[in-house]
Amino acid sequence: MTHIDSYYSRTAEPGIQAQVLRTEIDTPVCIIGGGLAGISTALGLAERGINCVLLEAQQVGWGASGRNGGFVGRGFSQNALKLAKTLGESHARRLYSLTGQAFGLMQQRIEGHEESILQPGSGSVTASWFDDEPGVKHYVAEMNRIFDETLEFWPREKIAENYLTSRYYDGFLKPDTMRMHSLNYTIHTATLAMQKGARIYEGTPAKKIRRKGSRWHIVTPSGLVNADQIVYACSGYIGSLHGKLSRATLPVATYVLLTEPLGERLHDAIRAPYAAGDNRFSSNYYRIVGDKQLLWGGRVSMFQPTQERLKVIMVNDLLSVYPQLKGVKGEVAWGGFMGYARHKMPQIGQLKPSEWYCQGFGGSGMVTTTMGGELIASAIAADDDRYQMFARFGLSYVGKPFGPIIAQLAYWSYQLQDALQVSRLNRKF
Ligand SMILES: Cc1cc2nc3c(=O)[nH]c(=O)nc-3n(C[C@H](O)[C@H](O)[C@H](O)COP(=O)(O)OP(=O)(O)OC[C@H]3O[C@@H](n4cnc5c(N)ncnc54)[C@H](O)[C@@H]3O)c2cc1C
Repeated sequence: MTHIDSYYSRTAEPGIQAQVLRTEIDTPVCIIGGGLAGISTALGLAERGINCVLLEAQQVGWGASGRNGGFVGRGFSQNALKLAKTLGESHARRLYSLTGQAFGLMQQRIEGHEESILQPGSGSVTASWFDDEPGVKHYVAEMNRIFDETLEFWPREKIAENYLTSRYYDGFLKPDTMRMHSLNYTIHTATLAMQKGARIYEGTPAKKIRRKGSRWHIVTPSGLVNADQIVYACSGYIGSLHGKLSRATLPVATYVLLTEPLGERLHDAIRAPYAAGDNRFSSNYYRIVGDKQLLWGGRVSMFQPTQERLKVIMVNDLLSVYPQLKGVKGEVAWGGFMGYARHKMPQIGQLKPSEWYCQGFGGSGMVTTTMGGELIASAIAADDDRYQMFARFGLSYVGKPFGPIIAQLAYWSYQLQDALQVSRLNRKF
């Protein structure tokens, strides 16, 4: 299957053109899933001298990894200050610093390919939807103190000069985030893995997995992989492949819109060169791409609307923040599934010796998938036990078959919490 219609597929570099598996092969490690989690694991293994096999049901980057918002920064889907509260500052800091290392590794992997992958400039601004200056100041101070971040508080006047909306109050700049062409990055890392010896097969779903003696037999529609070890990296697209991992994954749909070129009108709304977003539970995030176009992301829901219907929904969302852009047209809108765990932290670990999983990266997967891939690769190649730092988050049941309904209920409850916070804190509306 080809990539869905999106800003990324319209502007992508050629894919890796991998074969469908049509024979029986043998490998030390078989990875299932060709998103960034699987590919980072394959590249990590290849860099450590282990030539693995990766099976992708569609095309490399076809899932969330090749169609996301392209915001790349340290941290997890779970709020870092909440982590510090529950785990203690020292444990939370160690986890957070793993995402810092992964961020650095991504920068190294991009070297020489910046033009096709990275959008020039860096930094992202988070604007508060709530009239809560002390809350924003506290967040900035604590993130800088506990996690060595370099967040810069922006008073509401500065936010208002740069983002011309009545919706925002104070905010902060995170100066060192990247913005990426996520599909090109995914294709690039897959190419690196292949150059270092990984064998990747596209159009090759793993259909059945059996344990025979000390080996894994992975059955595909027209082939068979015999492996010593197996890694599951299927995220929100796992379906019913593996009882325990499937039950621990909540697929949550979320959306992105690409507008038409806005020309000088863009200046009526946005004046800062940074990517931006707000701090609601159900936030919007956006950045400028291409020919002064907005890439506008947000929402989560149970079912994905058609791409045409989605354009209307997302343009309306955009106008609720920037009504001065009335009349703007959407060029294309698309959705994708994120894989969430109940605890909003990655699930990285081992079910039993030789059976690994790397999933649950939620809405902050660009960097954390690289981290997960490194931890699993290093565990397999060098008995590195750092992956056990994630053991406490576990594979808790997400409530399937009611998972999507739970996701929708969770979204409505987030919207309600946002609305309650607005009525408690904001005097403007
Ligand atoms: C619209 C959207 C916007 C987002 N924005 C951001 C953002 O700005 N920044 C950020 O950090 N994160 C963002 N995310 C989250 C991020 O994209 C994900 O967390 C990350 O890409 C997950 O990577 P993954 O490899 O785990 O999953 P995926 O990329 O979804 O890959 C899973 C792959 O497994 C394959 N697969 C499934 N079952 C099988 C099987 N049986 N056999 C073979 N292959 C199989 C699928 O085909 C798929 O390609 C966003 C996500 C979405 C959907």
